[in-house]
Amino acid sequence: MNEIEILKKLVSFPVLGGNSNLSIITWIKEYIESYGVPTQLVPNKQKNKASLHCRIGPKTDGGVILSGHTDVVPVEGQDWTTDPFVLTDGNDGKLYGRGSCDMKGFIACCLAVLPQMLKADLKTPIYFAFSYDEEIGCLAAPELVKAINSHYEEKPKYAIIGEPSMLKPIIGQKGICVLDTHVNGSAGHSSRIKQEVSAIHESARLVLWLEDKMNQLVSEGRLDHRFHPPHSSLHIGQIQGGIAPNIIADKASFFWDVRCIPKDKAEDIILEFEAHCSKRENELRKIFPIFKIDTRQHHPPVPPLDTNENDEIVAFTQSIVNDQSWDTVAYAAEAGQFAEGGFQSIICGPGSIAQAHRANEYIEIEQMNRGVAMIENLIKKQSK
Ligand SMILES: [Zn+2]
Repeated sequence: MNEIEILKKLVSFPVLGGNSNLSIITWIKEYIESYGVPTQLVPNKQKNKASLHCRIGPKTDGGVILSGHTDVVPVEGQDWTTDPFVLTDGNDGKLYGRGSCDMKGFIACCLAVLPQMLKADLKTPIYFAFSYDEEIGCLAAPELVKAINSHYEEKPKYAIIGEPSMLKPIIGQKGICVLDTHVNGSAGHSSRIKQEVSAIHESARLVLWLEDKMNQLVSEGRLDHRFHPPHSSLHIGQIQGGIAPNIIADKASFFWDVRCIPKDKAEDIILEFEAHCSKRENELRKIFPIFKIDTRQHHPPVPPLDTNENDEIVAFTQSIVNDQSWDTVAYAAEAGQFAEGGFQSIICGPGSIAQAHRANEYIEIEQMNRGVAMIENLIKKQSK
């Protein structure tokens, strides 16, 4: 099968982040094993999802991990002109389908080049590492990285995360954490605003606290000019609460995220916020004894990627994509988690992030060709 036939197959599995990915991972496993390469599954506790890793080539240090995620984002409410789960050639040089660029296109390139890897005389190995639940908070990568480190006696050196970057080497990614905060106040007639605790008024203060926190980081000069914007951002994207103008709201909640440059830690910002919330709870319990502010993280914070432009992996990746530049991205990915596992890590894959997560997602055939060429160049490097 060539890369486009494989991509067609991969797109046909409508595996959303959060859903079981056993259908697609089993197909990938069988495809790889049909070439005589043993694979390892890393299941979740419920055994309804699994990551996969395998090694192609000799058991020696210095290998390169090619990493991708098998889940995609939903299509609901989007105005698709084709069936999102049928890869459709638009006869415009583009292949349409959910996940075509983010990031089944890269996985298809890896799988299509597998026979060439086996024919080549690899001196150092290439590994595949395919995860699930990336789109809902990069949930599976930590376990996958751990499994790779414990399964192989040899130590892989590099991890290339094939997120869509138009095959430009990406050395930095912001970390992210998504949270929601629930404020429990006391209801009453709006005229009693001084005798009750309005959950809306308190939520509004907390929202402003978060914005002030972001501005404080900026004014303290906590900047990293490789990123746009160059500072950590805190943003509240949804707020809910209240029923009428003359009723004090007893409940309000807001939904927010923190995107951190490598020198800041989401954990620290969240701890500071929680400390502020307990102070507010203590003050407002003088008026309403069971006043409460609860904040829940939707997932453990995803670490940033902070590869130095002088690290070896940068020149290595630049040479296999014939592009001497590098860049950073603001989206979250698993690259920071691979870096934490001890591998020099970089993001570099076919397709553009501008096409990801939207209706009529596509990947250009030219990008697929270049994705294949990148891995073919990798084989040459690993055969020397
Ligand atoms: Zn992705």
